[in-house]
Amino acid sequence: MSQKTIQLVAFISFVSLILVGSQQYMAQAWGFWGHKRVNRMAVFTLPNEMMGFYKEHIEYLTEHAPDPDKRRYAVEGEAERHFIDVDHYGEYPFEMVPRKWDDAVAKYTEDTLRAYGIVPWHLEVMLARLTKAFKNRNSRRILQLSAEVGHYLGDAHVPLHTTVNYNGQLTNQKGIHGFWESRIPELYGENFDYWTGKATHISRVNDYVWQTVLDSHAALDSVLVFERELNERYPSDQKYCYETRGQQSLRMYCEAYTLDYATMLDGMVERRMRKAIVGVGSFWYTAWINAGQPDLTRLDEALFTEEDAKKREELNKAYEAGKANNSVKGRGNVHY
Ligand SMILES: [Zn+2]
Repeated sequence: MSQKTIQLVAFISFVSLILVGSQQYMAQAWGFWGHKRVNRMAVFTLPNEMMGFYKEHIEYLTEHAPDPDKRRYAVEGEAERHFIDVDHYGEYPFEMVPRKWDDAVAKYTEDTLRAYGIVPWHLEVMLARLTKAFKNRNSRRILQLSAEVGHYLGDAHVPLHTTVNYNGQLTNQKGIHGFWESRIPELYGENFDYWTGKATHISRVNDYVWQTVLDSHAALDSVLVFERELNERYPSDQKYCYETRGQQSLRMYCEAYTLDYATMLDGMVERRMRKAIVGVGSFWYTAWINAGQPDLTRLDEALFTEEDAKKREELNKAYEAGKANNSVKGRGNVHY
C-alpha cells in the first residue's frame, strides 16, 4: 500500500467515528459538505484588499453555500441552473452548442436549453449580478451572491453535472452521482490539499465557464468506467453497506469499495475541488475588479434583516418537506 493509501485507511476509521447523521449522499452536488468547503477555502485565494471582508463573513459564505440546492424544492426554474447535459446535443468538445445564450436559444429554443440545464449561462448572469452588487457597495447582496455563485461554479466542476447520464441511470450505475461527489469528499476531504494559489482575473468569462464544463466532461469517462470495472470485480454483498444515522439505517457504498474507487480515480475528486476553489475565488475577484475595486473596508455593515431570517427559515422548511417527498420543482429529482 502506498503512503497515501495508508493515510486514507487511517482517515476512514477516524471519519466513521465522527460523521454525523445525514442522508444527503444521494441528494446534492458536492454534498453540502463539499459546497461549504469550496466556498470557505475560496476566501483564502483572495488578495488582501478583499480578504478582510470575506474572512469577516466566512461563516456566512460557508453556511449559505448549499442554499441553491435547498431552493430547488421551493423555486420553479432553480433546478436547471445547476447542470448542463451537454452530451444531449452531440459529442465532445460540443462545438455544435453555441456558447452565447442568444445564439443557443436561436438554435435550440429556450425550453430545450432549460430542460437540459443552463449552468454555464447562469454563471455569467451571476457574475454580472455580483459585479453590480460591488458597484452598489451593497454588502448584503455581495455576500448572498458570492455564496451562490460559489455553489453554481462548484457544480460546474462535477463531471456528472455535464451529462444526460447524470446518475449512471443509463449504464446501470445508479447512485454514482452521490458516490463521486458526496461519499468520497465526505470520507477523505479533510485530507485534501486545499492550497490552490491565488485568485486571478477572468477576462473572458464565457470561455472560462465553457472550459470548466469541457474539463468536467472530459473526466466523465473515467468516472463511469472505473466504477463499472470495480463493480465487476467486487462481490455484490461487499459493494453496499448499512450505516446507522440517527434512527435510520442507510444503504451506502461500503468504505472499502469507496476507497478502491477513490484510488482508481487517483485524486480526481480532489483536483476538481481544488479547481473549483480557485475558480470561485477568481469569480469573486473578477466581479470586484470589474466593479472598479471598491474599498471593502468602507461598505455598509452587512445587516441581515428579519425578513432574511424568515426567508431562510421558509427555505429550510421547503427543503425538508421537498426532500421528504422528493419533489423538486420543475424538472424532477434529477440533478443536484
Ligand atoms: Zn447544486
